[in-house]
Amino acid sequence: MNKNKILFEKSEDFIPGGVNSPVRAFGSVGGTPIFFKRGKGSRLIDENDKEYIDYINSWGPMILGHAHPEIIQSVKSTADYSLSFGAPTSRELSMAELIVKLVPSIEQVRLVSSGTEATMSAIRVARGFTKRDEILKFEGCYHGHADSLLVKAGSGALTFGQPSSAGVPADTAKHTHTLEYNNVQALEECFENMGQALACVIIEPVVGNMNLIVPKKEFLKRLRELCTEYDVVLIFDEVMTGFRVALGGAQSLYDVIPDMTTLGKVIGGGLPVGAFGGRKEIMQQLAPLGPVYQAGTLSGNPVAVSAGMKTLELIQQPNFFENLSRTTKSLVDGLIDAAKASNIEFSAQSVGGMFGFYFSSQPPESFDDVMLSDREKFNKFFHLMLEQGIYFGPSAFEAGFVSSAHTDDDINQTIQAAMTSFKKLK
Ligand SMILES: *Cc1c(COP(=O)(O)O)cnc(C)c1O
Repeated sequence: MNKNKILFEKSEDFIPGGVNSPVRAFGSVGGTPIFFKRGKGSRLIDENDKEYIDYINSWGPMILGHAHPEIIQSVKSTADYSLSFGAPTSRELSMAELIVKLVPSIEQVRLVSSGTEATMSAIRVARGFTKRDEILKFEGCYHGHADSLLVKAGSGALTFGQPSSAGVPADTAKHTHTLEYNNVQALEECFENMGQALACVIIEPVVGNMNLIVPKKEFLKRLRELCTEYDVVLIFDEVMTGFRVALGGAQSLYDVIPDMTTLGKVIGGGLPVGAFGGRKEIMQQLAPLGPVYQAGTLSGNPVAVSAGMKTLELIQQPNFFENLSRTTKSLVDGLIDAAKASNIEFSAQSVGGMFGFYFSSQPPESFDDVMLSDREKFNKFFHLMLEQGIYFGPSAFEAGFVSSAHTDDDINQTIQAAMTSFKKLK
């Protein structure tokens, strides 16, 4: 008896689509979603007691692997002192201090409970600060599901072929302008036309929500120059890349300094924490100091913050990101070689602990490129790997994640499984 199937069918009765977040439904790859009951390090166990090597890592947060003993201990001992106060705690101060230390472009930071809240709030502050309404984003970038950001969005929105959502008033969406990622010329033209009307530009400095897309250096550099020239707030949405591609985020890798940064995923270590921060003069627009309202009953929740703090503490260990990057790169190189051995059109790349692989000869540079890759092949490959206990994201539009708990043996086992899968794909 397949317990996953039984649970999913029952879930469909009670939860729309059987899931609490769309990509989990396996809608684009087909088949039954896996129900997990346990995780340890790089491994997950499903309801049928089948074991998997996990390359989703809860979409990024589990950078130290599942059920890391020090994080679990920290959560347990914090919980003993009550789960929430709705008042300030010293823990939140420690977290804010640490974020400001690790991400130098952040002078002040406020904690929230999700990435969506972080980006939504950052945009509100940017609008309040500049007293302008228009915002610019890039096709295929996902910034959470706030109304104004569900325009040509990536991730689940893309997976289900609806990059723009129903339920968003045209009057709201009309303030969100979109451009092609990595297209410097389009950027120049847009600023020339409407630079003075823009409150902010929000961007994934490395895109992880239309598979993995790496920015061209001159693109980010020019974006920074134009934002400065037109007094537009540049927001790096590092909800995925923050503490994932490098300790200082993507901004430390590409040497482009944003005015504001949004964080999430890794900073909660698996519990709900998000954050937005940046230049002090911008952040001081927030209530209670300034006119921009933003709040949260559970913001800075002590238990969530304790998981996040412990995670941030552990990833500061010497060589943490060197090792994580090396493991991730060895996975990517192994997959490329395995595909070559079967003559499959394939490419792959990684940045820190994030990777992408594509059934196309070159890694994509934009949304249009991503749409050209062979989705049919991806879906087959996904299921062939899943049968062999390798759990990749169930969509060709998601990046993958490696944790520090992934061993060389895990990587070798994955590459062996890929060789078998590519042979069958042939
Ligand atoms: C995941 C993600 C979000 C949304 O975060 P949630 O915690 O799911 O609300 C926003 N931006 C980026 C870049 C993300 O990857």
